[in-house]
Amino acid sequence: MSRVDQLRGSGPRKRHNARTIAALTGNPGCTRRAVLDAAGVDKPRLAETIGFPGSFGQSRFALARGNAFEAMLKADDCALLRSVLSLPEGRYEDLGEDSDDTLTARHTRTRDVLADGDAGLLDHPLLTLSVAGQTVFLEPDLIAAQRGDVLQVVEIKSFAIVDGQAESAAVSSAAVQAAVYVLALRQLLGDDRVSHDVVLVCPENFSLQPTAVVLDVRKQLSTLKRQLSRLASVSSLIDELPPSVTFDVAQPVPALLESLTAVEARYAPECLSACELSVYCRHEATGATAALGRPVRDALGGVATVDEALGLAAGTVLPTPEQTEAAALLAAAARLRNEALSA
Ligand code: SF4
Repeated sequence: MSRVDQLRGSGPRKRHNARTIAALTGNPGCTRRAVLDAAGVDKPRLAETIGFPGSFGQSRFALARGNAFEAMLKADDCALLRSVLSLPEGRYEDLGEDSDDTLTARHTRTRDVLADGDAGLLDHPLLTLSVAGQTVFLEPDLIAAQRGDVLQVVEIKSFAIVDGQAESAAVSSAAVQAAVYVLALRQLLGDDRVSHDVVLVCPENFSLQPTAVVLDVRKQLSTLKRQLSRLASVSSLIDELPPSVTFDVAQPVPALLESLTAVEARYAPECLSACELSVYCRHEATGATAALGRPVRDALGGVATVDEALGLAAGTVLPTPEQTEAAALLAAAARLRNEALSA
């Protein structure tokens, strides 16, 4: 049994999808996440076992709204979607699951249609991506649209664009997911055949009327590639872990907690929307300045704990040479606060 399999223990390897691959870019500096993902550990189950379950996923209302929006766009061979994308009538093929289909058969069909060079509108293509040495099948809710010689990824999302603006967290997560598909399509067809401009189709304002916006995902693509190559090299990190480290949920909770402590985490508030272990990691990071977010981490470099920051602000703790700048900032902030309160 390989060390990676030992780490995961008796549970089946957790399969990645575009959402989980996209989440890898959320906190690229976290070794704990890199190790758990490379080993295919079931993080939601691990979090539940140690008593820190998280709540992930869309609400039932959001799911129903999303399904209704998508069905409307795809009705009559995507007539409405074509008009939003300004595409002429043409081929539309849904490569979605048939009852007797295997993943490999669907992937082969996808490759055959894409090799044609005139995919038209291609729905549910089954793509693959190599993640930590494992070939991952991606079953995207994705449409690939042929525009001249290039394919363009079209993502249908149910969050609203109101007065030309959408929630930035929702847009950036959609952009990273779309970048996952661009990368997988490029690995299949070559870089020059897949555009880095993706189209997001969302409801406009408070109606279900669709609108399309184009996003350039070049930045997301390079972050993604960097993080995937880091995952590929994480095996050397795994080899250095003490033999007692395991994330097998059949182990007693204290052993699991000890194993988690052995792998360095880098908690940030963004983890709460991107990683299933976030409730545990937030608890573990209580009292650390880094847990307050990247701006605080950057401003208070060298000041590890909130207690230390309060001491420096009050002048009851002497700063080390590396803390001088942060200490001056903290003292000024404390003075301003006291002045504001006394006024
Ligand atoms: S929640 Fe924990 S394991 Fe997940 S990315 Fe954040 S620090 Fe890393």
